[in-house]
Amino acid sequence: MSKERSIFLLAILGYLLLVAALIGIARSGTIPQSQSFVPPPQKLLCFNAINKELRSSDTSLGCTLNEESLGISPIVHGEIRPTALNHTFEVRFLAAQVAAAKLGYELQITSGFRSQAVQAKLFADAVRKYGSEEEASKWVLPKDISNHPWGTAIDVNYPGDKIAVKWLEENGSLFGLCRIYENEWWHFEPVIAPGDLCPPMMVNALESLGNLATSATTKN
Ligand SMILES: [Zn+2]
Repeated sequence: MSKERSIFLLAILGYLLLVAALIGIARSGTIPQSQSFVPPPQKLLCFNAINKELRSSDTSLGCTLNEESLGISPIVHGEIRPTALNHTFEVRFLAAQVAAAKLGYELQITSGFRSQAVQAKLFADAVRKYGSEEEASKWVLPKDISNHPWGTAIDVNYPGDKIAVKWLEENGSLFGLCRIYENEWWHFEPVIAPGDLCPPMMVNALESLGNLATSATTKN
């Protein structure tokens, strides 16, 4: 075989290998696009505020026009300060309230959304009552940190029917509602997806200030 012929054949072989490699890359690139990923459906709870019915659906079917979803994740606040309680959080509470009423337990939100001005006043009052900001923070958090002004915290039945609230403590996780502090039987937040397990309670709100310093998340 002449030298020129060998070089020619090698060049052809190289070209064919290059084409095969390009086809392989193109195929591997197009497969995920042509078969776009569809996540498997997750369980979804839908609440009808008119007939007060709670129904189980899934994320592929969704809720009907007359229903509201309880959501499929913990409820966290955004960057912009709200002027009312988080809507999905309210739907969760309404669904729990109806379920509790069927068993004879009455649940009412006695303090939900608070403006930062109201929270600041409550904190100042608590500092006077308990003698220091540290002691006060076991019961009331400063306006920038408390989740009440973010619309993601509620006080239930305080200072009234504690027994009904015990039902909520034991069953709230079905609706995505959790008691947060050992020293506040009345304070609940939507920190889980409905049906998940609530996290262990913190001793008091001051502990959440400690968590803030390490994880930069807001509590209470
Ligand atoms: Zn509270």
